Amino acid sequence: MKRIVTFLITAIIILSSSVSALAAGCNITIDKVDAAPGDTAYVDFSIADNPGIAAMTISITYDSSVLEYKGYKEGFLSDYTVEAHPSKNQIRFINLEQGNVSKNGIFLTLIFKVSDSAKKGNSKINIAYTKGDFCNWNAESISPVIVSGGINITPANNECEHKEFSEWKTVSEPGCNKDGLRESSCKNCEFSKTEKISALGHQYDDFWTVDKQATVTELGHMSRHCKKCEDVTDIKYFSVKQSEENKFNNKEETQIKPNDFTGSITEKDESDNSQGVNSDEESVTVNSDQLKENEKGDYTLIIIIVCVLLIAVGFGIFFYIKRKK
Ligand SMILES: [Zn+2]
Ligand SMILES: [Zn+2]
Repeated sequence: MKRIVTFLITAIIILSSSVSALAAGCNITIDKVDAAPGDTAYVDFSIADNPGIAAMTISITYDSSVLEYKGYKEGFLSDYTVEAHPSKNQIRFINLEQGNVSKNGIFLTLIFKVSDSAKKGNSKINIAYTKGDFCNWNAESISPVIVSGGINITPANNECEHKEFSEWKTVSEPGCNKDGLRESSCKNCEFSKTEKISALGHQYDDFWTVDKQATVTELGHMSRHCKKCEDVTDIKYFSVKQSEENKFNNKEETQIKPNDFTGSITEKDESDNSQGVNSDEESVTVNSDQLKENEKGDYTLIIIIVCVLLIAVGFGIFFYIKRKK
């Protein structure tokens, strides 16, 4: 029987290639259905504006990695040959009626099982055909418009979409330089998410602390300490003379309020740790400039003395030569 059918179909196809096409608004629609992973889905194939079809030899395309072909349900036709070829992602449908059938409606329903691991989204089902695959009893080729369909895979009923979350809980506290971490979990399942808590930045004292006392031979230094960690900023070097002139206590651990020597506290120091490092460098340069200025005064005096001496020697030589003449 199968052989005869195939022979007839082949004969019809050969004949049909020589006759004119008939479309006349005929269309075939493949249903769009929703199904969850693991579900069984029924996909209807229906025809409208049927001009009268006697034979169909078509390939139905589907994704066999997502959908498993399980079987079919008959529609209004009388002769069904349906065979799945999962490796080709194809289901062959061959039909040969005893004359033209002009009915409209569902002519075939395919049954699929949606894979348990199927991801959310549309799994398309379509019909691929070439001219002559649909024809009427007079071997005239028919070219219906195919409206593709498929299975819209929805999350499984037991799969949580994590719509409600608990309040954030701190996992690790942020530090001056170190980011912290917080966590929130789904109210309906075990799922949890984490998020970074940005580092807080240093919080420096609004006074300077003497870290090293100045001596006659060595400069001392002071800095502003972070209240929460060991970090320091705004390091200032000073001499014994400067501590006396500016009336601050040259003794380790002494807290020194902003004064003419230290200058005022700039907003920049308070902002964050990354700038804190830079302002340290800046204050060091500023202070070495101050040191140079102190030394400059001494050099100027020496230069004046040398100049006076040179002028005196010059005059001496000048008068000596004059007298000799
Ligand atoms: Zn959840
Ligand atoms: Zn700190």
